[in-house]
Amino acid sequence: MSNINIDSIKERTFDAIVIGSGISGGWSAKELTEKGLKTLVLERGKDVKHVVDYPTTNMYPYEFEHRGEVPLAIQEAAPIVNRCYAFREDAMHFFVKDNEHPYVQEKPFDWIRGYQVGGKSLLWARQTQRWSDYDFEGPARDGFAVDWPIRYKDLAPWYSYVEKFAGISGNRDGLKELPDGEFLPAYPLNAVEDYFKGVLQKKYRGRHVISARCAHLSKPNPIHIEQGRVQCQNRVLCQRGCPFGGYFSSNASTLPWAQKTGNLTLRPFSVAHSIIYDEEKGKAIGVKVIDANTKEEIDYFAKIIFVNAAALNTNLILLNSTSNRFPNGLGNDSGLLGKYVAFHNYSARISAEYDGMKEYKTDGRNPAGGGYIPRFRNVHKQETDFIRGYAAGFSAYRSPNRDMSGLGVDLKEQLLNAKPGPWRVGSHMMAETIPKESNYVALDSDKKDAWGIPLLKIAVDYDENDAKMKADYIEQMTEMFTTAGFTNIQANTAGQAPGLDIHEMGGVRMGRDPKTSLLNKWNQLHHCKNVFVTDGACMTSTSTQNPSLTYMAFSARAVDFAVNEMKKITCKKICWGTSPYIAALLP
Ligand SMILES: Cc1cc2nc3c(=O)[nH]c(=O)nc-3n(C[C@H](O)[C@H](O)[C@H](O)COP(=O)(O)OP(=O)(O)OC[C@H]3O[C@@H](n4cnc5c(N)ncnc54)[C@H](O)[C@@H]3O)c2cc1C
Repeated sequence: MSNINIDSIKERTFDAIVIGSGISGGWSAKELTEKGLKTLVLERGKDVKHVVDYPTTNMYPYEFEHRGEVPLAIQEAAPIVNRCYAFREDAMHFFVKDNEHPYVQEKPFDWIRGYQVGGKSLLWARQTQRWSDYDFEGPARDGFAVDWPIRYKDLAPWYSYVEKFAGISGNRDGLKELPDGEFLPAYPLNAVEDYFKGVLQKKYRGRHVISARCAHLSKPNPIHIEQGRVQCQNRVLCQRGCPFGGYFSSNASTLPWAQKTGNLTLRPFSVAHSIIYDEEKGKAIGVKVIDANTKEEIDYFAKIIFVNAAALNTNLILLNSTSNRFPNGLGNDSGLLGKYVAFHNYSARISAEYDGMKEYKTDGRNPAGGGYIPRFRNVHKQETDFIRGYAAGFSAYRSPNRDMSGLGVDLKEQLLNAKPGPWRVGSHMMAETIPKESNYVALDSDKKDAWGIPLLKIAVDYDENDAKMKADYIEQMTEMFTTAGFTNIQANTAGQAPGLDIHEMGGVRMGRDPKTSLLNKWNQLHHCKNVFVTDGACMTSTSTQNPSLTYMAFSARAVDFAVNEMKKITCKKICWGTSPYIAALLP
């Protein structure tokens, strides 16, 4: 009997465990397995195999029962995810069902989640920009949160590393505030986007429209072909899952790569309940899992654990990992776990028309989505009555003037002969928010989910700085649009609850001082060194850039550090008895 137990424990023991298989977990898994570690990836949702599990990917509009619309009954049953622009008939199976995964909104918060192998990497809009020192130095310069324990130079080689593998399209724009990367050819701006770029260049110092940088294979390199991915076909049906692997997802890229090493064990339907802490060993030894289907409780063991469940779920897992040593959550000596949560403020947009350039139209689809205006406020000096700033999207398009009257052949003729309508332009704000102690997540003391895990309580809100920034965005964009000769300018500040930007961050922030942060500069819990957090939970501040590229870079960098540390320990053990010379070289 005891042998059976030992065998069973052996089967459940790995070198490393990764919780979550989305963008950050996929990267952790790839790096760990490539470096030879037997790695278990725990994923709470169903398996989604590249190509075969993309049921809608090749469907024509008329093949959808509701022609792409989400039926009212489903909308009503899913009021939160229904607010996400990508929750459409072709991709709704990749979003969680609100009623199956409740949480407590102490303040309104739209928590958009994708629980499956690949996580939200299937659904994301693929916008990818590096941070610069203006971002990493932000909290120290402007006096909020805590100083980041790293600077741009620490992450730069890791940005390069992940960009080359993921495939990022973009131009080398030479902007200090938005460092260039290892780019595949950019998707060009269309005529009016390019015109607006020219207007800013002439009339505004330090304001730029650049081609959006995005995780698409505009021209694949051999490393992408080796992954089984080919050139993006500009179908712009990405949210369905791409059979070409034209955009980066864990499913198309990092997970199959990890699988090929022979070192990956992927366990879908595995809800990580908590991390098991061994009081005697003074370290984490594994993860308690609830099988999503059978509700059976199973423990898995490993030397190191990467928590990549996406920012808020990572907070939840750590808060739920209590022991005598850590009664308030793993590594939480500072009492700050779950606090200083922040997000991006996407609650303002602006649109207009342009009467010129009628001789041009758009040609084909642009998977990058158009232009990107890097942050220009308060970059070099404080110039407004709010701190930090916003980036903005910018795109222009011409829809055909469609006459939908008539039937049959007449209607078809009309549609075929439709002429392009006026140019329309649009922009959305992507603003930094300031992490505050009062913006927090915690475990609800009464309510539990279907797997017996406490519900997450979310208390996150906008503040006065956000309101001022939003007003400034509308003012500045209105001025720039007017300067460009755009007309019929419409501002939309109706707003949305925090969360809908889907860039939630913080709660397990990095920092130099264990008293004011949870993670050190290697994304390692200060007080439980074999646990690493490399998803959005680690973010000390948010800046304005889309965050996922930074999570990828953090994941690869932290794995490199962790594996080097493990090698040192192993070498030390082997070397002490045999070669004091080698041992003496060890730290
Ligand atoms: C419509 C949309 C557009 C977006 N556009 C962009 C963009 O343009 N650029 C950008 O940078 N970001 C974008 N994002 C955000 C981006 O998707 C996330 O930043 C990114 O996926 C985060 O990676 P992650 O690994 O932290 O989380 P995820 O990719 O969400 O993966 C987390 C995984 O952990 C699993 N998990 C959670 N809890 C547990 C548990 N207890 N046990 C086991 N597994 C668990 C989940 O099921 C999931 O698979 C967008 C998101 C959406 C939905």
